[in-house]
Amino acid sequence: MEIIIELIDENIQKQIKEELEYLLIIAESMEPPLRIHQILVPMDFEAKIRVLTKEDNYKFQRGLENAQVTVAAKIIESKDGIIIVVSPFLYLPTFDTMIRCFILTHEFTHIMNKDRFPKVPKDLFSSENYLENLYTLFDEYVADRFSFHLTERLFPPTDAWKLYNKNGVLSYINPSSHPSYYEKIKTEIEKFRIHGDVNLHWKNVVEAMNVISISTVHGFASHHQHPNEYADTKIPITPFVNSKTLDLMEYFKIKYENQETDLSDGIEIMSNYLTNFGVKFEDRPGNQGYIYVLDI
Ligand SMILES: [Zn+2]
Repeated sequence: MEIIIELIDENIQKQIKEELEYLLIIAESMEPPLRIHQILVPMDFEAKIRVLTKEDNYKFQRGLENAQVTVAAKIIESKDGIIIVVSPFLYLPTFDTMIRCFILTHEFTHIMNKDRFPKVPKDLFSSENYLENLYTLFDEYVADRFSFHLTERLFPPTDAWKLYNKNGVLSYINPSSHPSYYEKIKTEIEKFRIHGDVNLHWKNVVEAMNVISISTVHGFASHHQHPNEYADTKIPITPFVNSKTLDLMEYFKIKYENQETDLSDGIEIMSNYLTNFGVKFEDRPGNQGYIYVLDI
C-alpha cells in the first residue's frame, strides 16, 4: 500500500499522509481486510482521473448548472490493484478528519461490495440493465449507511461535520432542482419523437438520470440512518420523488437492514422507478435490447 500526495507543501503532505495512515486502519480491519494498492491525492483531480482511466471526458462535476454534484473520491481498478484517488478539495478548511473518514469509508464499502454483490446474469438485455442500475444505486445506499454508522461511532460530531450534514437529507435530494431536470428530460423526449435516435437520446438523458437517482439515494440513506434526527423532515413529492421512488428506497432499506445482497427480486421495483425518467428496457429477438422511450 502506498500513499502518494502530489501537493507541493511538505508540511501539508506530511499531515495528509499521517491522517490517511490512520484512516486506513479502517480498511485493514474490514472483514476480509481490503487490499488497496495506492491512495493518491493529486493536484488536479479531474486531470488525474482522465489520465488513469483514459476517459477524456471524465467530469468531476455533473448535472445541470446550479444543481450539480461533485465527486470527492474515485476508485480505479488498475493492473496493480485498486487505487483510490482523493480530491484535494477535501483538504480545504471546511472539511475535517471526520468528514474525510466518512468519504473514505464510503469508498472502502464500495470496494467491499465488489466481492459481496452477486454477478449480474447477462442472458437478457432488460433484466441485465435493470439489475445493473439496481446494484449501482444499492451500492451507494450501503456505502452511505455503513459509513455513517462507522464514522459516527468513531468520532463525536465536530462542528465541520454538523455543517457538512446540515439539512443533509433535503440538500442531497435537492427537490428544488427537480423541475429543471424534469424539463430537461421532457424536452429530450420531445426531441427524440422527432429524431428517433435512441442512442443519442440515451446519451442526452443518462447523466441527469444518474445525478438525480444517486442524490436521492444519498438523501434517503441519511434519512434511514438517522430516523430521530430527521423525524420532522418532510420529503416533498416531485416528479422524481414519488410513490415509485419511495418503494425503491424502502426496498433498499429492508435489504440493507436484513444484510441481504441478492436483489434479483427487485427488477419490477426498479423498472417502475425508471419510468420516472421515461426509460423502459425491452428485449428483442437475438438478445438485441431496446430502450423504449416513454412520455413523462
Ligand atoms: Zn459512492
